[in-house]
Amino acid sequence: MEHRHWPHPAKAVSIKEIETHEEATISAYTDGSKYQRGVGSRVVIFKGSDIMARQKLKLDDRCSNSQAEQLAIHKALEETELLNRESISPLTAIIYTDSRVSLDSLHNPYSHSFLVKEIRKKVASLERSEWGIKFSMVKAHAGTHGNEIADRLAKEVARSEGTKHVFARIPKSTLYQEAEEEARQKWQREWTTSHKAVATRQYFPTVQDKLRSKIKLTPKITAVLTGHGMTNAYLHRFHLSWEATCSCGNEYQSMDHLLFHCANTSAQREVLKQQIGTWTASKQDLIIKHQKEFCAFIESIDFDDLQLGNQRT
Ligand SMILES: [Zn+2]
Repeated sequence: MEHRHWPHPAKAVSIKEIETHEEATISAYTDGSKYQRGVGSRVVIFKGSDIMARQKLKLDDRCSNSQAEQLAIHKALEETELLNRESISPLTAIIYTDSRVSLDSLHNPYSHSFLVKEIRKKVASLERSEWGIKFSMVKAHAGTHGNEIADRLAKEVARSEGTKHVFARIPKSTLYQEAEEEARQKWQREWTTSHKAVATRQYFPTVQDKLRSKIKLTPKITAVLTGHGMTNAYLHRFHLSWEATCSCGNEYQSMDHLLFHCANTSAQREVLKQQIGTWTASKQDLIIKHQKEFCAFIESIDFDDLQLGNQRT
């Protein structure tokens, strides 16, 4: 058959699991381990009770346990392919794994992770050269001899320092988490050192708080949180009002004045005080712990009315 007529390997290959007590000429025990001190894969290949090949591989510390399991499976297939086929009859091999997750991924046609695809390709390639490849789930620590060896060696590899990583495809989820954390820290540094957004920072000292907050931004709430707009002090600064004074007599109608001190908003403030039962709350507490009540308080203030008669036209 011409190469171009070959079925796509991922479509052609079916991952077969053994029936009970089925045996093969070659038994390949695979294991992957992720420990605090590292990630490692190990393969031991038996023909009968003879060890035909051993392999240990070290993965990047950020690789997952499943990746270690799958790398071991892939290595087992590679090692099987390298065996002297003249001495093997029939050409059958069983790949033992204790990773149900990996077997399920191999069966799942929608799973296209790098290693899963590589394993399927390798199985297809072996089957084209007349190998019969099957998989078997072994329970972890079930005492199967070959599996015990692979398991023990995988742990040794994971712990061994200085071994060069042979596999460093970090899972996307891990990369995203790291990128997100990095961005958050960068944002936090800018947030803390910036001269802008002073008003906002009083409500949200940390970016984390801001990110967690699902606050619904209305025009009034935005004005309060940014300190931009809706007060005479602000409008006066931009020559949009005659005076910076407040209608209560205070000479400076800032947002803080309107929210926390103004006599004209004392009725609304009383409602808020009763609802949250305290008035020692910081701005941060108001927006984080008492958000619902605080936002209702902001919405209850008629900022237009408090500026009435003061706008320049
Ligand atoms: Zn006032």
